[in-house]
Amino acid sequence: MYRILACISDDHAPGLLALAGLICLGANLVAVTLLQRSLAVPARRLFWLLAAGFTAGVGIWSTHFVAMLAYDPGTLVSYEVGWTSGSLAIAVLLAIPAAAIARTGRSGLRSALAGLVFGLAIAGTHNLGMLGVVIPGTFVWDVPAVILSDVLGAAFSALAFEALRRDLFGAGRAAAAALFFIAIFVLHFIGIGTAVAVPDPTVVAPPWTMPREGLAAAIAAMMLAVLTLGACAAWLDARMSAAAAEIARMRELADAALEGIAILRGPTITEANRSLAALVGRAPQDLVGQPFAGLLAPGEDPPGEGRSAPSVARARLLRADGTALPVEMHLQPMAFADGPRQVVAVRDLRERAAAEAHIRFLAHHDPLTGLLNRASLHERLERAVVAAKEGGRPFALLCLDLDRFKDVNDTFGHPVGDELLRIVAGRLRSLLRSEDGVYRQGGDEFVVVQTGVADLAGVEALGRRIVEALSAPYAAAGRHLTIGASVGVSLYPRDGTDPVQLLKNADIALYKAKGEGRGRVALFDPSLDAALRERRRLEEELRHALARGEFTLVYQPQVAIESGRVAGYEALLRWRSPVLGDRPPSCFIPVAEETGLVLPLGAWALRQACREAASWTAGCTVAVNLSPVQLQDADLPVLVQEVLAETGLEPSRLELEITETALIRDRDRALTGLERLKTLGVRLALDDFGTGYSSLSYLQTFPFDTLKIDRCFVARVAEDASSATIVESVIRLGQGLGLRVVAEGVEHENQLAALRAHGCDAVQGYLLGAPGVVAADRAVPRRSAA
Ligand code: C2E
Ligand code: CA
Ligand code: CA
Repeated sequence: MYRILACISDDHAPGLLALAGLICLGANLVAVTLLQRSLAVPARRLFWLLAAGFTAGVGIWSTHFVAMLAYDPGTLVSYEVGWTSGSLAIAVLLAIPAAAIARTGRSGLRSALAGLVFGLAIAGTHNLGMLGVVIPGTFVWDVPAVILSDVLGAAFSALAFEALRRDLFGAGRAAAAALFFIAIFVLHFIGIGTAVAVPDPTVVAPPWTMPREGLAAAIAAMMLAVLTLGACAAWLDARMSAAAAEIARMRELADAALEGIAILRGPTITEANRSLAALVGRAPQDLVGQPFAGLLAPGEDPPGEGRSAPSVARARLLRADGTALPVEMHLQPMAFADGPRQVVAVRDLRERAAAEAHIRFLAHHDPLTGLLNRASLHERLERAVVAAKEGGRPFALLCLDLDRFKDVNDTFGHPVGDELLRIVAGRLRSLLRSEDGVYRQGGDEFVVVQTGVADLAGVEALGRRIVEALSAPYAAAGRHLTIGASVGVSLYPRDGTDPVQLLKNADIALYKAKGEGRGRVALFDPSLDAALRERRRLEEELRHALARGEFTLVYQPQVAIESGRVAGYEALLRWRSPVLGDRPPSCFIPVAEETGLVLPLGAWALRQACREAASWTAGCTVAVNLSPVQLQDADLPVLVQEVLAETGLEPSRLELEITETALIRDRDRALTGLERLKTLGVRLALDDFGTGYSSLSYLQTFPFDTLKIDRCFVARVAEDASSATIVESVIRLGQGLGLRVVAEGVEHENQLAALRAHGCDAVQGYLLGAPGVVAADRAVPRRSAA
């Protein structure tokens, strides 16, 4: 041992020795990397094997001879060409089979065998190389030491191959390179250190020798080859590790997939994602290497091997807990670098079944209350009709609508409204037998289907119980609320034999129930239907009437009693519908008010009346009726102002007629509205006085100019003493407040005489002129006021 250490320290140049070490390590690393490539890329296995063997062989040889260059035995040294090149040949020729043996290595025995061959390569290189060293003398070998060095070299090589086999892609590579390094150096130094050079001047150098410099050049050439190979290997390695990262990412992706995914080589699983492992209740690594068929429940066919087209199959997986799981398998053949594979995507059908059930539930239920929805109602009615036809059992349909629900929603907000609806649903459910059904139609409308109805009284009783139950106070969102309900009933077969008709008729009955005051139960009655139909038709026609120019205005004169002259005209709307014929304002104005159509219609009437009045030469006033809906509209003063400006009518010639009902609804708003109108300079008249509250306080509060006594008083003024007294006091009162008093509906001379006697200012009625057309330049012919 001492001899060996002394030989290393005394007989070797340290710089060159270090270079030998570097060459050895570098060549080893490159060779190992190339060997790994031959494993990873089976398609080019032979190429990588040759490259690995070549690199390793050249590495051994270069290491040996650089170390020899570092070695200075104290005499002249040259190298015999034959042995020297033979040592290179044996290095390469033995390193290649060693690599080939290790490559297929699946056991330690293989590593040992590869190690033995590689050890022979090192020993061969060293010993043949030593034979080629020419000195003026001879080497005396320590044979047991040489044998020991050879055995150690083989042993370390075997360890290196084993390190590589156990961890091919981890730290195994560095460990293997280090172990090869030890194998080469141990062999070299034991060999050199135990040899003794005995000087012998008779030794003659053979003719084919090469000086140290020649050897150095050969080594340089060799190393160039190794470095080139090394660069290639490093580049490839970088690429391959990028590919490995890619594979890792793909694996992560597969793990993120909700579906189970397995990759099969033949029948065997080579990759499995977490979802698949979770489906079968095992760890992913437990699945790798298993046959896929092992995951299936007994009796299930494994996915078809060697298929070339994608396919789908249903099967049951066997879970770790022994239960079977229904799945759908999608098979997709794929070409991998090392051959064909099958990718199997496994979808859990339980979840799909649950999702489908959920979707079915959503399609048939109202999400807010959990009650069945409109679609379910129609299905149910279809079935009920069929059953009723077969079994002759009548059934009833109860449409119900909550009273004042909108107010709750508007006042307290939708969350409170929603909670209220849920409580309503609960009350309805608890009220009904299981065979009856309750459905939410939408909004605050519900429908109950009552089966097995014996008589109408039973249906009405249920209707009343519903109204009662829903009218009880509610505690929603920490508040106490009360609402009510109205119910409309239709009965099979009395009120219809098909679902659509039954629903429609129950709805009509509900409409009636609401019209009668809330909290009622109304049964369908065919006359309701006709009235409702008529009303719908009217509404429909009215919607288009204005645009189609079906309206006109007629003017009824107002005559001053004193002078007998026409003081002004009241504009009155006329509708000539090509479909419905002539319709009086009493028929269409209420509908126009309900639908909001009165706003554009009223604006049209105002504009039309002002335009015509502006052309009258007589300069008398024009009175235009305003609906309460118009008065509620904040834009009314603006509209009036615009129309006056547009038509050029003097404001004082326009009188706006307003009824008491318009003032009652929102007194303050009406007052501000009227005051704003008043500032425009127009006149205001209180219309139909005597029909409503007839409160004299209105006359004092609001800025009226004219009071119009309703024709119901006028009709009796001549014959009924009490009517005469009322008319007289109203006239006096009005005049006391500075108002002009006009009596409406004057049809007879005696009425006119009575009004004149009471001091009325003006009169209007058929006696003085029916509503008609006013010629632009002609006032209505003066009538005798007598
Ligand atoms: P109103 O304002 O009281 O109009 C007077 C109504 O009495 C008119 O009925 C008129 O034709 C009728 N009349 C006139 N003289 C006599 C008579 O001597 N005897 C009888 N029995 N009736 C007479 P019309 O034209 O059918 O209008 C009915 C109501 O429709 C009007 O009552 C008014 O409230 C409303 N109206 C008419 N035109 C308009 C309009 O342009 N806008 C609005 N908002 N309402 C209008
Ligand atoms: Ca009027
Ligand atoms: Ca009137």
